[in-house]
Amino acid sequence: MIESTPRIASAQEVVEELRRRNSFVMVSHVKPDGDTLGSGLALGLALKSMGKRVAYFQQDSVPRNLRFLPEADLVSRDLPADLPEDTLYVFCDMSDRKRAGDLLDGVERENVLDIDHHLGNALFGKLNFVIEHECSTGTVVMHLLRGLGVPVDPPIATCILATIMTDTGGFMHSNTTPEALELAAELMQQGADKERITEEIFLRKRVAATKLLGRIIEAMRFAHDGRYCYSYVDDTMLEMTGADGEDTEDVVNTLLGQEGVDVAALFKAIEGEIRVSLRSGGRLNVQAAAQRLGGGGHFRASGLTYHGSLMSAFEAVEAALVAEGL
Ligand code: 5GP
Ligand code: MN
Repeated sequence: MIESTPRIASAQEVVEELRRRNSFVMVSHVKPDGDTLGSGLALGLALKSMGKRVAYFQQDSVPRNLRFLPEADLVSRDLPADLPEDTLYVFCDMSDRKRAGDLLDGVERENVLDIDHHLGNALFGKLNFVIEHECSTGTVVMHLLRGLGVPVDPPIATCILATIMTDTGGFMHSNTTPEALELAAELMQQGADKERITEEIFLRKRVAATKLLGRIIEAMRFAHDGRYCYSYVDDTMLEMTGADGEDTEDVVNTLLGQEGVDVAALFKAIEGEIRVSLRSGGRLNVQAAAQRLGGGGHFRASGLTYHGSLMSAFEAVEAALVAEGL
C-alpha cells in the first residue's frame, strides 16, 4: 500500500464526514483555553442539533473561568463505555495530537478529525481541516457550521465568540482582522453573550492571582539590552499566595508589555513539570523557538514543556530565542 501524504481537507469533505458519522467525541487540549474548549462545544452543539450523539473529552478539568460556557459541565476525562466503533474524535486547536494528553492514544487515525489554526500542524487526522490565517479554531469551525447549514443559536454564538476573544486577547492581538471583527459583530447579533465572556475570561481575578502576579513581577529579569523579559512561578510561590496554575494564564502578556521588551517568557515549575509560555511583540518567531525544544504554537504565542532544572530551562529557552534572532 502506498502511504498517502496527509493534506488539508476542504470544508466540503469535512462536512460530508460529519454528516456520515453518528457519534462524536469533541477533544480539547490539556491546560485548556477558551479556543480549544469553545470550538469543541460549538461544533458539539451543532452536531447535537442535527440529532447526533456527542461527548466532550478533556484530560484536565475545565478551568474556573470557562465553566460558564454552554455545556462545559458535560466535559469529562471519562468517556461513555458504549461509544460505537466508528465514533469520530474531533481534536480541536492542537498542532499535535499529544497535546490532548495520553488517554486517547488508542484512537485510530481513521477516526480522527483534526481542526486547527496553528502553524506547522502535524496533519495527524484522517481529515485535517487547518486554516493557519484564521484567528481562532472557532472561526475555522464556523466554515463547517455554514457548510452543515446549522443555524447559529445564542449558545453556539457565545462559544464561537469566546474562541475569538480568547485568541485575539480581547481583540487586541495582531490577528484581530476586519473579518474577525465582522464575525464577532454577527455573533453578537445572533445572541452571543459578550459581557459574560469579558467578565469571566478577562476581568474577574482572584485576589490570590493578583498576589501571585506581584511575586512573578518581583522575580522578573531582563536580558539582551532589555529586549528579553522572563520570570518564573514555582510551587512555593503558589503556596505563599494561595493561587494555583490556572492563575498564571495571562501573566506572560504583562511581561511582554514592559517597555522595550520584544520577547517574554514565563517558566511555570509546578508539580514537577516545567511549562514555558513564550510571547513575541512581532519581530521574532516564538513558534520556531518553541519547536526547537519540542513545543509549538503561533508566531507571537507559543509554549513547550521542558524536562530538567529551572536553571537549565532558562538557558535552553534563551539559546532557542537567540537562534531565532534575539
Ligand atoms: P500558552 O503559553 O498560552 O500555554 O500557549 C500559547 C500557544 O502555544 C497556544 O496556541 C498553544 O496551543 C501553543 N502551545 C503551548 N504549549 C505547547 C506545546 O507544548 N506544544 C505545542 N505544539 N504547542 C503548544
Ligand atoms: Mn487557538
